[in-house]
Amino acid sequence: MYNLVLGLEIHLHLKTKTKMFCGCDANIYTAEPNTHTCPTCLGLPGALPVPNKDAVKQTQLLGLALNCKVNTNSRFDRKHYFYPDLPKGYQISQYKQPLCENGFLVLDSGTKAKIERIHLEEDTAKSFHEGDKTLIDFNKSGMPLVEIVTKPTFTAIEDAVDFCKKIQDIVRFLGISDADMEKGQMRLEANISMRTPKMESANELPKYKVEVKNINSFKFMEKAVKTEIARQTELLTQGQTPIQENRGWNESTGTTISQRSKEEAHDYRYFPEPDIPPMVFNEKYLQELKKKLPELPHQVKARLISHYKLSENNAKLLSTAENMFLLQKFEELVQHGLDSAKVANLLLNKPKFRNLTLEEFKAKTTENKVTDTALLEDAINKVLHANSNAVTDYKTGKESIIEFLVGMVMRETKGKADAALVRNSLISKLKT
Ligand code: ZN
Ligand code: MN
Repeated sequence: MYNLVLGLEIHLHLKTKTKMFCGCDANIYTAEPNTHTCPTCLGLPGALPVPNKDAVKQTQLLGLALNCKVNTNSRFDRKHYFYPDLPKGYQISQYKQPLCENGFLVLDSGTKAKIERIHLEEDTAKSFHEGDKTLIDFNKSGMPLVEIVTKPTFTAIEDAVDFCKKIQDIVRFLGISDADMEKGQMRLEANISMRTPKMESANELPKYKVEVKNINSFKFMEKAVKTEIARQTELLTQGQTPIQENRGWNESTGTTISQRSKEEAHDYRYFPEPDIPPMVFNEKYLQELKKKLPELPHQVKARLISHYKLSENNAKLLSTAENMFLLQKFEELVQHGLDSAKVANLLLNKPKFRNLTLEEFKAKTTENKVTDTALLEDAINKVLHANSNAVTDYKTGKESIIEFLVGMVMRETKGKADAALVRNSLISKLKT
């Protein structure tokens, strides 16, 4: 038997006005090819890169949100490789001194997923293959790209998928990326290998890993990992060691396909980018940055449960980036004294309630209370009718029996009635 061990690399486009090292407009997603370019992002000789301060700040904010150490010293490096979509022959990335290191994220399963580093780099251009020709669009070249690298921390597919989903939600919450996978704003790569339970308990890593690239949906990631588990297990069972290589996920065949043998770090001949001075951040700057960190999804969720007594499920739904507008509406309504559980239910489940003003919302929910009163009336009559002995007891002076009757009404209304209101209604009915 073999168990999964998996590490993730997640690339995200940051939401900046301009590209990473030039002044080109970074809103490239609906643009005609090669309209957002300049000598720097075309990689022309002699063009000088100037780092985008906003991209640096957004990366550091992400680092703080993911419990990382934000380094006071950081620098850019050149990562060399040859590919038509990289005309400089190198990518400006970070190697020895990334912006952030050593973070973690707590998953739904309770697992603490360990993050190795978060660094900043430039995206490459995009190539299209048409027959024997290759066409290149340079709009994507030089886009600010943040890369989150985890440790080989995952032993279950579900955890890896949950991690990716949470990252998508957090960057949207922070407003630093739209993380739309269809637009290529979020891309996933998984380093997958299998080991024996004995190796797992000794915290020992296999001698090989297979990197699956081109994963552009959470569903594909799940499928690609399952496919690799089966493929690698079969090889290992036959006494072979899977080759260390990059493989691409092919959705139409449902298989992974070998792309190239994986480079080691030294193949990239990293060295410090000589055109960009090292970055130094002082304590004051980092303190100011910490103040800018908003309440994060898991914190919002915890507050909704402890402060407003919302159910686990409703609290989770209200604390996603997707429902941020509902959260604002929710807080506004409950501040005006409306019942928190009811407001949460209506906002989440009844879209027509979402655009109501405070007054309209109040009117609608009071209407509901009238019906409640009618229901309560029915429940009280039913209970009084079924418990004539208790009624007699009460009328002959055994007033403590009222608590029994309140209990019966609460049971009849499945606990949804207000006990004080029930008690008062019962007393006034028994006195007539
Ligand atoms: Zn440019
Ligand atoms: Mn990268």
